Amino acid sequence: MVYLDNNATTPLDPAVAEKMCWFLREHFGNPSSLYPIGRAVKDIVTEARETVARALGAHRNEIIFTGSGTEADNFALRGVADTCPEKNEIITSTIEHLAVLRVANYLEKKGYKVTYVPVDRFGTLDLDFLKDAITPRTALISIMLANNELGTIQPIEAVVMIARDKGVLVHTDAVQAFGKTDVNVEKLGVDLLSVSGHKIYGPKGVGALYVRRGVDICPLIQGGHQERGMRAGTENTIGIVGFGEAAGILMDRGKKDRDRIEKLAEALKKGIESKIPKAKFNGHPENRVKNTVNFSFLGLEAEAVLLALATKRIYVSTGSACSEESEEVSHVLLSIGLRPEIARSSIRMSLGRFNTDEDVQIALRELPEIVEKLRQISAFDPEEE
Ligand code: PLP
Repeated sequence: MVYLDNNATTPLDPAVAEKMCWFLREHFGNPSSLYPIGRAVKDIVTEARETVARALGAHRNEIIFTGSGTEADNFALRGVADTCPEKNEIITSTIEHLAVLRVANYLEKKGYKVTYVPVDRFGTLDLDFLKDAITPRTALISIMLANNELGTIQPIEAVVMIARDKGVLVHTDAVQAFGKTDVNVEKLGVDLLSVSGHKIYGPKGVGALYVRRGVDICPLIQGGHQERGMRAGTENTIGIVGFGEAAGILMDRGKKDRDRIEKLAEALKKGIESKIPKAKFNGHPENRVKNTVNFSFLGLEAEAVLLALATKRIYVSTGSACSEESEEVSHVLLSIGLRPEIARSSIRMSLGRFNTDEDVQIALRELPEIVEKLRQISAFDPEEE
């Protein structure tokens, strides 16, 4: 198998799996219980919280574990909106993940004014537009750090500078950035930041929201006192343990992995450009998480390419996993100005820790052949732009 869809999810790192199995075997206590088997689990959860915090440059009290990156995003937007009902405006971008866009739509229905900041052809935010959109009623700016389809990295520090001047909070969805580029809450200066376990070789169903000390936010889930009352419900202890272990591994070997992955992805990009005519690269050439390589293959339906690759056990994506099953054209690709038929011909390949040179070679052997064959049976006109 050649797995080139690491932005959709990553395989569990064997060391994470081992730690989780150990935890499952040895510990079942409820971290809220006061007797030793509960205390032991509480300590293990605290250790995981400390590790995730350290990986983000945060303090452990600033980390709230959630049920996913999606929940962290929902929590950030709704949690801030609920604390200051007199401020009824939100600013976000046109290329956010649905975990942000759907909440923005929901808030619009509730009477909020939401401004969607456009991006340029590389997927980079229009900062002047953002600056002009801020009003005294702006409660929050939510802009993702790295885009899941293109990899393009947003100028979050600049967003924070603009927002600080006007006293507006900034949230960033760092789900795709964590592990692929430096993510440090102090350097970024953000007030809230979302991450997810399964994008960093940890388990699915666990995420975290960083909330800067002193930032007021209402809980999304009410009930017991878990997560200091900010996210009720008995903790997903096994998920948290795995997430902590995965974050620890990132700190140990993240940079080395990244350099290797970037080289492989660059070889894949260059190979596609040299072997496939009319392959159009999407995303920022430099300022992006470089594991991500997105191409439009003019004249084709991406789905046909994806399925043909899958018969060779090569797995890629036509967009974000969440929109994969819908017929919709990627809102991200439309936002960077692609025509719908070109957006529909786009494939995302995203590399990760377990990819090898051989994976890239196999992809570069099979993909050009598949594209050529499919173009022969489609109405592809090589002269068409
Ligand atoms: N935000 C971004 C940018 C993502 O790419 C994803 C998942 O693909 C999410 C949020 C949602 O994270 P989760 O799958 O943990 O809900």
